[in-house]
Amino acid sequence: MHSNISIFVPHVGCPHKCAFCDQRTITGEQKLPHKEDVERACLQALGQVDDISDTEIAFFGGSFTAIPREYMLELLTAAHKFVGEGRFAGIRISTRPDCIDDEVLGILKSYGVTAIELGAQSMSDEVLGANERGHTAEDVRKASRLIREYGFELGLQMMVGLYKSGHQQEDETFNEIMAIHPDTVRIYPVVILKNTRLAELLASGEYKPMSFDEVVSLSTRALGEFTKAGVKVIKCGLHASEFVEKDMVGGFYHPAFRELCEGVLYRLAMEKALGDAEKAGTPIEKGTCVFSVGKGCTSKAVGQKKANKLYFEKLGLRIKFTEDKDIPLYEVRLADDATTAHKCSIYNRKQLEKSSKCGCFYCGKIFAPDEITNYLNEKCGTALCPNCGTDSVIGDAGGYPITEDFMRKMHERWF
Ligand code: SF4
Ligand SMILES: [Zn+2]
Repeated sequence: MHSNISIFVPHVGCPHKCAFCDQRTITGEQKLPHKEDVERACLQALGQVDDISDTEIAFFGGSFTAIPREYMLELLTAAHKFVGEGRFAGIRISTRPDCIDDEVLGILKSYGVTAIELGAQSMSDEVLGANERGHTAEDVRKASRLIREYGFELGLQMMVGLYKSGHQQEDETFNEIMAIHPDTVRIYPVVILKNTRLAELLASGEYKPMSFDEVVSLSTRALGEFTKAGVKVIKCGLHASEFVEKDMVGGFYHPAFRELCEGVLYRLAMEKALGDAEKAGTPIEKGTCVFSVGKGCTSKAVGQKKANKLYFEKLGLRIKFTEDKDIPLYEVRLADDATTAHKCSIYNRKQLEKSSKCGCFYCGKIFAPDEITNYLNEKCGTALCPNCGTDSVIGDAGGYPITEDFMRKMHERWF
C-alpha cells in the first residue's frame, strides 16, 4: 500500500498570506524541520513501512519552492540520499503555481523529486483575487504544463466554497482542472480559521459561505467525476485534527468528510440503478434489493451511520450488498439472482437438507439432495457436487430456480 513520510515545512515557505491560510493550524506544526529531522523520519520509516518502493518522502505545508534556496537544498539533500534503487520511490513537494519555473524544476529533478502538487484552489481569477492568492488561473495552467514537460507527476489542490465563489466559479474550477487532467487532486472544502482574513470577512458579514449541503454536493461531484476520469483523489476534506477543530470559526469541516461524499455518491448510483430498472420495465418493487459494489466498498455504500440504508428504508426498500471485484469504485449494479444465489453454495448443509432438488452451477447437473455425500468442512458443511466434486451446489430451499438454464446463468456469472 502506498504511504508517505510526511515532513511539514510551515509558513516560512510562503511569501504570501492568503485570505484563508494559517499554515500553522493546518499542519499542526510550529517548528521548522532541518536535515536531521528529515534523516530521522526516513530512517524511522525504513524500519516501519511495508513496501519502501511504494513510499515517498513528502514535503508539505508551505510553498516548498519559495523557501530560502539554501534551506530548500538542505532538505532535498537530506531526502535525496534515501531515494532510488532499493530505497524510497521518490519525493513529493507542494508549492504555489507562481513559484514554478525552469530553473527550480531543473533543481527538483536533480534531487529526485517525482511529484509536484500545486495549490490551484480556484480557476476563477475573481475568486483568486478576492482570496488574496496573489496568482492567476493562467499561472496554474502554465505551471501545470511545465511540470508535465519535465516529467513530474502533477497534483492540483482545489478549494470548495471560497469567498466570492458561487456555482459558476465552482464549475469553472472543476471543468478547468478536469481539462488539465492532473495525476492527482486534493479537494479541500474551505475551513475558516481564527486570525485569517476570511475570519474577518465572516465576522463582518461580507463573506456569506454556501450551505454545508451545497459544499458536500460540489465536493461529491468532484470526487465522483475525477475518479471516473482516472484522476486519483488523494484527499477530500481536511485531516481530522484537534488543531483545526480548536481554531476554526466557520466553514465546512467534518472529521469524515470524504466518507460523507462517498455515501452520497453511492446513494446517487443506487438511485440511478433503480431508475434504469424502472425505465427498462423491470421496476424494483418494495422489499429487499441487492446491489453489487466493488471489493471492500460495502461500508461506503451503506453510508455514514447507515445513512443510505435508512434513506431507502423510508422508501420501503431494504438494501443489501454483495461485493464484486469487477465493479469500479463508486459504481453499483443491481445484483441479479445469479449473483445473489451464490451465497447459498456456502455453508449450505442445513438448507440442502430442506431442499427437494439441488443443482451444481459448475457442471450443470441437477440431482436429489441425498446424492450428496461429501462436504467441505464437515462442521459448517459446504456441499461438494456428487458429479464433479466442486463446491458449487445450491438447493431449491434457497428460493432460487433449480433448472439447467439457471445453472448455466450462474456458471457464466461465476466461472
Ligand atoms: S500560498 Fe499556501 S502557504 Fe502561502 S499563504 Fe497561501 S495557502 Fe498559505
Ligand atoms: Zn458439479
